Amino acid sequence: MKSEYPTIIIGSGPTGLSAAYHLDEDYLILERDSRIGGLNKSVYIDGFTFDYAGHIMFTGDDYARAIFDRLLTDPKTGAKNVHYQARQAWCYQKGVHTLYPFQANTYGLPQEIVQECIVGLARAYLKNGDRPVSDYANFHEWMWGTYGDGICKHFMDPYNRKLWKIDLREMSHEWLSGRVPMPAIEEIILGAIRPGKADMGPNAYFGYPLRGGYQALVDGWVHLLGQDAIDSIRTDSEVVEVDLKNRSVRCANGDEWGYRRLVTTMPLPELVRRIRNCPSDVRAAGESLRHTSIQCVFIGSRPNRMEHYHWIYYPEPEVFFHRIFVQGNASPFNQPEGCSNYIAEISYYGKPVPKDEAIERTIESMIRVGRLHPDDEILVADMVLMPYAYVIPQHHKDAAVQLIKEFLQQHDVITIGRFGEWSYYNTDHAILAGKRAAEMVKELREREKPARTTVPLAPLGRKAAEDSVALAATGKV
Ligand SMILES: Cc1cc2nc3c(=O)[nH]c(=O)nc-3n(C[C@H](O)[C@H](O)[C@H](O)COP(=O)(O)OP(=O)(O)OC[C@H]3O[C@@H](n4cnc5c(N)ncnc54)[C@H](O)[C@@H]3O)c2cc1C
Repeated sequence: MKSEYPTIIIGSGPTGLSAAYHLDEDYLILERDSRIGGLNKSVYIDGFTFDYAGHIMFTGDDYARAIFDRLLTDPKTGAKNVHYQARQAWCYQKGVHTLYPFQANTYGLPQEIVQECIVGLARAYLKNGDRPVSDYANFHEWMWGTYGDGICKHFMDPYNRKLWKIDLREMSHEWLSGRVPMPAIEEIILGAIRPGKADMGPNAYFGYPLRGGYQALVDGWVHLLGQDAIDSIRTDSEVVEVDLKNRSVRCANGDEWGYRRLVTTMPLPELVRRIRNCPSDVRAAGESLRHTSIQCVFIGSRPNRMEHYHWIYYPEPEVFFHRIFVQGNASPFNQPEGCSNYIAEISYYGKPVPKDEAIERTIESMIRVGRLHPDDEILVADMVLMPYAYVIPQHHKDAAVQLIKEFLQQHDVITIGRFGEWSYYNTDHAILAGKRAAEMVKELREREKPARTTVPLAPLGRKAAEDSVALAATGKV
């Protein structure tokens, strides 16, 4: 006999945890992994802390900022487990480190490359002027039409092909706004003739937990939700079938659970594959969505060679990874004294490079780009996979997602989060998405109201309502 919950939440990443926090009714979270936290988890090995790829905190939203603050504030002492830093993001090509973003910081590169970049920019500008992003048919056209041959050839094209693993013409340009710095032509020219500016783009100043890695945010959710909620989370519970007609889910471990409303954060293509008797157009929409995966190679080494970098982009195809997150500079507590702590991020589509080979090629490339020396002591070398990392903004994506969402809504299923909405969400967006899901649950319940006896509802949900007074008093973190 299966138990029934008012709301079941699939997935315990920041979206699922935030949904639970904002709900004002009983819930059950089903998580397929043996640990909660989704992509916000960290791994602890021999005194080193590694995140699932480079993760920092930044947001333009006051509510999300207040939640970040709350998650990293000790409820007993009020001490804050966070520190803020000015970003040190760099690009490395032709043996030279240049500031990020590449296009506004070519100063220091060999003269013929700077020349190619500026002449290409001038030609593109003469042809296209300040043509708005929305005028371009796709990402590839925007890039070449805006920045010209040199900048695209030496950084933007090889880097983006290395990351996205797809013909860049198949990508729309809609995801760019607010994510990719778009320096004006004057800034690009100035950045070629004198040392550039480090503070462009939305994450020029960022927060990071002092202790515990990015996982400290997940630990913060556990504190906020309290023991009752922890009893409402089942790990090792992969949902393998969703029965919309009978409002139940079945897990790989054999458990079955009934629900009145379902909040799901699992990747959309997987969800539609697991829906019993899913209509063929909905299934086809799910199957049409593409994403890239990331393998993260963790390297802990001695001595400390991290210098001042937070992360470095590597466009050149002969370098194995596309980015290194210098995890040790995010917090000095991420590694033992005198050591370096790096995460190499390697994008893949389909099958990852096997672990031993990936580690060997990472070390080789790190020596090549100067992050390691051949006689450095390697203390930790490990790898994790992130099978779902970046959703690809294909031209038809929004229409496909809309079709799936509308179908699910008819069955009181809310699909939400980075992979539930198939959108380029950061953690702050995930927090807000969870809140939105809780509000949608409340609306669904309101609609059912005439049939049941109800009690007045708290505005935000039990836990969130208890916290709301203090939250409102929170200033900027
Ligand atoms: C390389 C990379 C770097 C990033 N850097 C940053 C950064 O610097 N700053 C930032 O703010 N954000 C960053 N992000 C984004 C951030 O990680 C995500 O926005 C956030 O994790 C999304 O949360 P989510 O809960 O929607 O999804 P997830 O974190 O993916 O959580 C979904 C959960 O659902 C579970 N699940 C899936 N299928 C099932 C199933 N069938 N049954 C049960 N459980 C299931 C998964 O195991 C997972 O735990 C980065 C992401 C990537 C990929």
